[in-house]
Amino acid sequence: MNCYKLETGVSKVYKITTREDFEENIKGNKKYLCKGTDGYFRGLGICPLCDNPVRILSLYKKLENKRPYALHCKDGNDEKLVSFNHEKYIHCPYSNPSARQHFDKSIEKYPMTEFEKELCAAVKNNFDKIVRFILDKTDIYISKAFAKNLLEQFYLNFGFRNSETNFSNIPWIMLYCIGRFNLVGRGVKSGSSLWNYLRKRNDIKLSPFEYNHEYDRIESSTGKFIILEGCFYAHTQRIDGDDEVIEKIRFGVADSKDINKDWAYKRIYSIDITEFQNFCKEINYRNQELLDLAKDDIHL
Ligand SMILES: [Zn+2]
Repeated sequence: MNCYKLETGVSKVYKITTREDFEENIKGNKKYLCKGTDGYFRGLGICPLCDNPVRILSLYKKLENKRPYALHCKDGNDEKLVSFNHEKYIHCPYSNPSARQHFDKSIEKYPMTEFEKELCAAVKNNFDKIVRFILDKTDIYISKAFAKNLLEQFYLNFGFRNSETNFSNIPWIMLYCIGRFNLVGRGVKSGSSLWNYLRKRNDIKLSPFEYNHEYDRIESSTGKFIILEGCFYAHTQRIDGDDEVIEKIRFGVADSKDINKDWAYKRIYSIDITEFQNFCKEINYRNQELLDLAKDDIHL
């Protein structure tokens, strides 16, 4: 992998670059270093996606043709920061694909694992920032009712149990869990690509949106009932040859219930694994109303 964190939970994600940068980040803290049997140091960190310990190689002892990179420590040798946990490991896109298993979703039969509880706790403690992140990244206004729906569907559809869910993609998985939703009456970000598409449709009118002046309300231009539904779907995750997580999700707009009709509008979002956690760390924003919603809806 090409990123690491220094702390568990929703925490700053660093790209693996040079030894100098690594030492800049760890600020002389020896717990992030261990000496190998060959006498060279290795860097220690935390996997940004599954919170397992990682070893950062090719920083001190240059490995041939290898720029610095990290690997999960599964052998129990480098667990100074945190212990290895297999449950968490199978949620990680960097895990060996054969380690991933099919989850049985029955919560009664299989109570939440520790990692699933940690993901739910991350939602609970950061829900205001999750909503803010979704507002930033997508073109749709998230009302309080929509936010409540995000929480409920994440919980009911076991978003936390999806083997692809990790600390970096929680907001996207929440969107993925809601399925199709009505766009009529919702706010669309002025000037966005979705807004530009809707503006050109004769059957739709964009009116001032009372909750936020950066958005316009999507309405039927004739006053007649219209079908216009959005959906986040086809979430995919893989590792490319450069050890980069390639993660994507599609957003489609349907203007008919006909399953054979193509999406009327489609957009593909690329998910950058450093973005969400760094956003949470950097943004100075709290919204108690949203945090209270999460406190009521996420049962741990
Ligand atoms: Zn991992």
